[in-house]
Amino acid sequence: MKAIVVGGGIGGLATALSLHERGIEVAVYEQSRTIRELGVGINTLPHAIKELAALGLLDALDRVGIRTHELIYTNRFGQQVWRDLRGLDAGYEFPQFSIHRGKLQGILHQAVLERIGSHNVHPGHQLVEFEDDGGSVTARFDRRDAGDTVTASGDVLIGADGIHSTVRSTFYPDQGPPSWNGLMLWRGAVEGEPFLTGRSMIIAGGMNAKFVCYPIYNNPDTPGRTLINWAVVARIGDGSSPPPRREDWSRLGQREELMRYVDGVFTLDVIDPVAIINSTVDFYEYPMCDRDPVERWSFGRVTLLGDAAHPMYPVGSNGASQAILDARCLAALLAACKDDVTGALKAYEAERLPMTADIVRTNRKGGPEQVIDLVEERAPDGFDKLADVATHEELEAMVRGYASLAKFSQRDVNRPKA
Ligand SMILES: Cc1cc2nc3c(=O)[nH]c(=O)nc-3n(C[C@H](O)[C@H](O)[C@H](O)COP(=O)(O)OP(=O)(O)OC[C@H]3O[C@@H](n4cnc5c(N)ncnc54)[C@H](O)[C@@H]3O)c2cc1C
Repeated sequence: MKAIVVGGGIGGLATALSLHERGIEVAVYEQSRTIRELGVGINTLPHAIKELAALGLLDALDRVGIRTHELIYTNRFGQQVWRDLRGLDAGYEFPQFSIHRGKLQGILHQAVLERIGSHNVHPGHQLVEFEDDGGSVTARFDRRDAGDTVTASGDVLIGADGIHSTVRSTFYPDQGPPSWNGLMLWRGAVEGEPFLTGRSMIIAGGMNAKFVCYPIYNNPDTPGRTLINWAVVARIGDGSSPPPRREDWSRLGQREELMRYVDGVFTLDVIDPVAIINSTVDFYEYPMCDRDPVERWSFGRVTLLGDAAHPMYPVGSNGASQAILDARCLAALLAACKDDVTGALKAYEAERLPMTADIVRTNRKGGPEQVIDLVEERAPDGFDKLADVATHEELEAMVRGYASLAKFSQRDVNRPKA
């Protein structure tokens, strides 16, 4: 069997590695001229790390990421609302990693080059169209540098081409642009002093503005310093109109615009959001966009994966994690029923679509971050005793409910694979 993977992001590269591991021939086509290490920090959850460990990548992750110890939710005054241990420290068999997205992509890319060979990785190839004749799929790519078009054929085509997926829009030509909820996300990373345990993540604020920060890399050349990833999410519209600028992960943000939502808003003991943002030279903006879940991902010999299948708001640390889980599930099913590609793609859809659709919907309500939204709504000026504002059970239901929905409760992750 030969697979064509469209998109060399985390989902596409994890798919290529997983197919190769199962003995399936694979080639990756990426529109960018080079697979560059773009983005800033993301979190990858224990269930996805379990899969990356199965691909032999745990040591590589340890070299460039940080095993997250704890996640602390606070109101905008730094008063603790909820604290969760994470990864190994919470009893999982696998760590959670806070990591630079580009470094994670780089690890996957390097492994793809070593295992599958550079001749099977095609940067600068933009998918334009494809045809499934029932017996095989033929895809057509524009080669920007050469200024020509090439075709490739395979038994299966996997659209891992992100939120603006060409593969998805072929099946859903009327879907329109992604939907925006009125929130803008600014993200950056800068070297600074380690805070709390040096492996702690903070999410502070509430419904209208949140500040998130966590360390993602300890550079051995700068001991005593750590690369701190930060993000601010603020409401800049009511969501009834399109975002002011197109959603592009690499768009630079404007400092004056961002500071309106930070300066005088957050007073945290452990870290100063204004100082950390001001010390960051370049940072990025991204309107919080997703798409409505669809009913089908698989059409004949073609399917969708990762953000192409289930673009979701980047809350709850699930974007990259769910793409990796898709990849592992799809590769296992394709390997198990090699003679029935369409059946395997349907089985993949049946296993992955309903659960990821639930995550998309729950992320729209704020995911686990609802704990601070609730507290801010009830106590906008802070509280003397948290118990007067919300019960432990209420808060726990929000956090634990999300973990079991996204299948990263301890029971799910530590259970041996069937
Ligand atoms: C540059 C970039 C920076 C990001 N930064 C962050 C971040 O800081 N924080 C965060 O939470 N999430 C970030 N994300 C999103 C995050 O990586 C994804 O939500 C998650 O990893 C799922 O990945 P994916 O592989 O499905 O999609 P993506 O990571 O979006 O990858 C899709 C890939 O497909 C390629 N592609 C698209 N169309 C075509 C085509 N027609 N032909 C060939 N190739 C095509 C794209 O160039 C891209 O490399 C970023 C994504 C990108 C592309």
